[in-house]
Amino acid sequence: MTRAPRFPLALDRVGAAPRTRPATELLRPQRPLQHAAQHAQQQALHEAAGRATPAGLGLDSAAMRARMVQRLRAEGLACEPVLEALARVERHRFVDTALANQAYEDTSLPIGLGQTISKPSVVARMLALLCEGAAARAQGHLGSVLEIGTGCGYQAALLAELGRSVVSIERLQALHDKARGHLAGVRRAGLQLVYGDGRLGHAPRAPYHSIIAAAGGDALPQPWIDQLAVGGRLVAPTFDAASGGQVLVVIDRGAAGLQRQRHDAVHFVPLKSGAA
Ligand code: SAH
Repeated sequence: MTRAPRFPLALDRVGAAPRTRPATELLRPQRPLQHAAQHAQQQALHEAAGRATPAGLGLDSAAMRARMVQRLRAEGLACEPVLEALARVERHRFVDTALANQAYEDTSLPIGLGQTISKPSVVARMLALLCEGAAARAQGHLGSVLEIGTGCGYQAALLAELGRSVVSIERLQALHDKARGHLAGVRRAGLQLVYGDGRLGHAPRAPYHSIIAAAGGDALPQPWIDQLAVGGRLVAPTFDAASGGQVLVVIDRGAAGLQRQRHDAVHFVPLKSGAA
């Protein structure tokens, strides 16, 4: 859990033309990565074998994660650090026990209070897009990260694997508390959970190299843009007037200004105002 992976960044280059494309097209693999697949699988199995007291899905969970990673790889996800983080973080520990047996299927799951944890392929897709930001590529990690919508804390745990410091904001107290419990075992000096309205970002730790939102509004809140470092990248679901639905929007802040791209159509829970 302590290794900080560097980014070979074999993710497909995203097209400059802003248009919505199916995820399968965007996630086409560039080259076979069997070697890395074996490595991730062996590592997961090794970790499982080394665990003295299995809990939840026990010893099988590492193998199930390895299979989930294999499926994502087969679908074209080629960002190694993201795949490795997905192989390490135990998704079943972030959902209710009754749902644990579905934790490694590519499905979104309820996490309480009408909210959902996104399906692994969407989480992986967004993290891979973040890894393609200029600062992330230059540094070999996501740097300082801001997440809006902690939810159950699963994605925050992945971000803690991929970045140097993470601030994650949740507006629902009950979920903030739940995530705190789930993340108690994730000993990361740089992981800070904040209870509040994430539309305001988190100015005290700004600017951020990577900003990711797990809830979508009509427009991107200005504080997110303002808190994006030069070289930083923001990935967020946002309403798209052209298609009449939600799409993933990517904003890059370069020395010369902001660049915006539109990607996959998605269905995230709404970005709401205020804390509750
Ligand atoms: N990344 C999460 C996904 C949670 S779903 C996970 O891994 O579980 C999206 C979350 O965004 C919900 O918990 C919802 O309460 C939260 N949310 C919505 N609007 C918000 C806002 N303005 N500030 C902070 N969190 C918000």
